Amino acid sequence: MNVIRHSVLIHESWEHILSRSITSPADLAQVLDVDTSEIERVASQYPMRINPYYFGLIEKKGDPIYMQAVPDIREITRQEGLEDPLNEEDLSPVPGLTHKYPDRVLFLVSSRCAMYCRFCNRKRKVGRNSMVTPESVKDGISYIKGNKKIRDVLLSGGDPLLLSDRELDSILGKLRSISHVQIIRIGTRVPCTLPQRITPRLVNMLRRYQPLYINTHFNHPAEITPEASLACQRLADGGMPLGCQTVLLRGINDNPGTMKDLMQKLLLIRVRPYYLFQADQAKGTSHFWTPLETGLNIISKLQGYTSGLCVPHFVIDLPGGGGKVPLVPEYLLAVEKTHLVVRNYQGEKFLYPLVGSDNAL
Ligand SMILES: *Cc1c(COP(=O)(O)O)cnc(C)c1O
Ligand code: SF4
Repeated sequence: MNVIRHSVLIHESWEHILSRSITSPADLAQVLDVDTSEIERVASQYPMRINPYYFGLIEKKGDPIYMQAVPDIREITRQEGLEDPLNEEDLSPVPGLTHKYPDRVLFLVSSRCAMYCRFCNRKRKVGRNSMVTPESVKDGISYIKGNKKIRDVLLSGGDPLLLSDRELDSILGKLRSISHVQIIRIGTRVPCTLPQRITPRLVNMLRRYQPLYINTHFNHPAEITPEASLACQRLADGGMPLGCQTVLLRGINDNPGTMKDLMQKLLLIRVRPYYLFQADQAKGTSHFWTPLETGLNIISKLQGYTSGLCVPHFVIDLPGGGGKVPLVPEYLLAVEKTHLVVRNYQGEKFLYPLVGSDNAL
């Protein structure tokens, strides 16, 4: 029998770690007590990949790491949600590129991820060869070249850092040769799910393309390991500012204590929380959804209680392609002629005098 080794050796390459991922129900059944036929049904619809590094973070069945990685029968038994909740396909002038805001685009350059997150809002597409092709990448670059208003390109996928150094270097080189592209961003979950990918060689390549911003994606304090910390340290030392886009997930991080711990730990590894996303209403993910108040309550338990650097913007991404909208807990109680009535983070009421406009005095 093929015995799965689910620990990672110190000098094991990221490609090798990835090649040992659990991708079939039979592999999974060797290391976890699961219902193989259920896993089979889910994985035939939505791909499964649990690499040995991320698998090693599971402490027990049903914990926050397990829930993000292991297929759940509710992905196919519950019908709520939409295949393409953000209407990305209709907003794509060329396949794989979404142009929703005037000055920036979302550009998918990889179909693969180091792990297939069960809550992914692109779960109908990730892991499939048709998601990104050499032609779609070529067409995306031509589109950006032909549109002078695009000053910010956000590379996503799938995970751009699952490309080889050479492939990524080639895409970044082409983008940097376009004079109106000022900012390049990479959205990647690799510092969390496969931190071994962040090699000194990769960082040396990336640093040639600054200003390059990296937005990573951590959802739980248990993901902040020494390996993840080293990966982020390398990127930050290489001059890449690091942000985090966390997804609010039922049973994983939907309480203020867990979220505060996560945000504080992110700052320790030099990652600045950027967005906290309300989970998108993607089909197959409804068991992760939370009511809006959960997110608002979390923000109100962070703001004022800990460093402002720890407080991400809580955003909803509008179905139908309307874009992201920040939601803020209510601090403004009333607007009077001469003053505002506001509450502070502890709920105490204050008056704030209005000055600076003619009708205020
Ligand atoms: C999120 C997103 C962006 C980037 O938005 P920022 O608020 O600038 O981070 C750009 N395009 C699309 C389609 C997006 O979904
Ligand atoms: S890494 Fe991102 S794109 Fe890939 S499965 Fe997870 S959430 Fe989806």
